[in-house]
Amino acid sequence: MKKNIILMGPPGAGKGTLAKQLKSSLNLVHISTGDMFRENIKGGTALGLLAKSYIDKGDLVPDQVTIDMLKARLAEKDCENGFLLDGFPRTLPQAEALERLSKEINRPIEVVVNLDCNNEELIRRISGRRVCKNCGAPYHIVTMKPKVEGVCDLCGGPLYQRADDNEEALKVRLDHYVTDTKPLLDFYKQRGLLENFNSLVGSQELFNQVSKFLTK
Ligand code: ADP
Ligand code: ZN
Repeated sequence: MKKNIILMGPPGAGKGTLAKQLKSSLNLVHISTGDMFRENIKGGTALGLLAKSYIDKGDLVPDQVTIDMLKARLAEKDCENGFLLDGFPRTLPQAEALERLSKEINRPIEVVVNLDCNNEELIRRISGRRVCKNCGAPYHIVTMKPKVEGVCDLCGGPLYQRADDNEEALKVRLDHYVTDTKPLLDFYKQRGLLENFNSLVGSQELFNQVSKFLTK
């Protein structure tokens, strides 16, 4: 089985949803840098305060801050059985840092799962997205409704709309994806690690395809 996996794709491609499904079925640790920043924002830490000023506008948090946070997380004991990186790396310096770091701790990246999605669908998904304030579970007001409106199926927590899930910030996020993150696909292709999946097939089918690939 493949472990130490990177999930890549534009915002709204379904990385978080897929990661949550894979995490419970394959027993991998889910590391989402976006979730880590949001935890820090919620907790009112200095890192959270700094991150918020970038995130709310749709900008990327500076590389060094992000790399240091990730580095500490990857070194933790629970990562030794395998991890799923969701939202990291997003820039070339981050990818290079990860390459050095994963060598250092002897946990090499084994595959990069890339989720393809067109812009129209990304915009539709993100504009209708709601997230549980408690556990981070994702919903959509049309396609992934909770059983009770505004309430998380999993933990009963309240659902909210992320501050960066608005038209203006999304435009900036999509631009960052194209200029900063998309070039990483070549970086990983050259290393023979890239595996493409079409995220338009729907979350259940996507999960089936990816887990079949990872466990074969
Ligand atoms: P999405 O994939 O929907 O854009 P995430 O939760 O992964 O959402 O990220 C939300 C925001 O957190 C990003 O727009 C960015 O500001 C910040 N962020 C997350 N990961 C990184 C990263 N690796 N480098 C820089 N900023 C990041
Ligand atoms: Zn919840």
